[in-house]
Amino acid sequence: MDGSLTMKGAADAPFYLAQGDECDVFAAAARNGLPVLLKGPTGCGKTRFVAHMAAQLGRPLYTVACHDDLSAADLIGRYLLKGGETVWVDGPLTRAVREGAICYLDEVVEARKDVTVVLHPLTDDRRILPIDRTGEEIEAHPDFLLVASYNPGYQNILKTLKPSTRQRFIALEFDFPRAAHEIPVVARESGLSEDRVAPLVRLAGKLRGLKGQDLEEGVSTRLVVYAATLIRQGMPVERAVQTAMIEPLTDDPDVKSGLRDLVTAVF
Ligand code: ADP
Repeated sequence: MDGSLTMKGAADAPFYLAQGDECDVFAAAARNGLPVLLKGPTGCGKTRFVAHMAAQLGRPLYTVACHDDLSAADLIGRYLLKGGETVWVDGPLTRAVREGAICYLDEVVEARKDVTVVLHPLTDDRRILPIDRTGEEIEAHPDFLLVASYNPGYQNILKTLKPSTRQRFIALEFDFPRAAHEIPVVARESGLSEDRVAPLVRLAGKLRGLKGQDLEEGVSTRLVVYAATLIRQGMPVERAVQTAMIEPLTDDPDVKSGLRDLVTAVF
């Protein structure tokens, strides 16, 4: 697992429309090396926020999308055979710790248990990364920052963060942007005009109201951007909404037909 490296100057920071004071809180945490946990549903802007802040702060960013097979070794590094020789190759976390980068563990609860063990000495005042395989103990660069995200909405008891882990982070709660913010975000991301985006955002609000009843999760801003993008490309609204805002949410034919009624009510 390499992690993707992005380094950008503040001038070309990816567009992010702040919902509140999250940029100030993040910057203060970064200045003081405090780990940050971003909580919120999928597709509501967490990854974009981190990319924006990394660029604003001028720090490299290593993003790791966590999955249930991701182990501590994937983050720390491993010995690899290269041209007949065994060489140690740093993983994304180790590189970030050495270089003073931001390491963003997206959906950290998905990762294997041994990952949290590695994070503990890094997220208290020791700020060290012990590497058992090489015997090294790396002191984190002053600019190293650990950021993790998770989605509390899945309500999976097996997949929540233990208090001993979560209490090592300051936490910011994210939610879908309110309409007055989501309309300009979707318009900017898709290139569709704000007046054509407005009904899509209204529909998104109604679909989110069904969370916990017919739908496990409300529709993400990402999907609203997809729908708007298809419409800007010339796809009829109804078809774009069906493929980007209905089909991805459910496989249940009855629920789908209920959602289509909502679409008719909005457009
Ligand atoms: P998450 O990491 O929460 O799953 P993302 O950061 O990938 O979600 O957000 C999905 C998409 O939504 C982004 O690619 C971007 O187009 C859009 N988006 C959501 N919120 C914002 C925001 N506040 N400013 C700019 N874009 C946003």
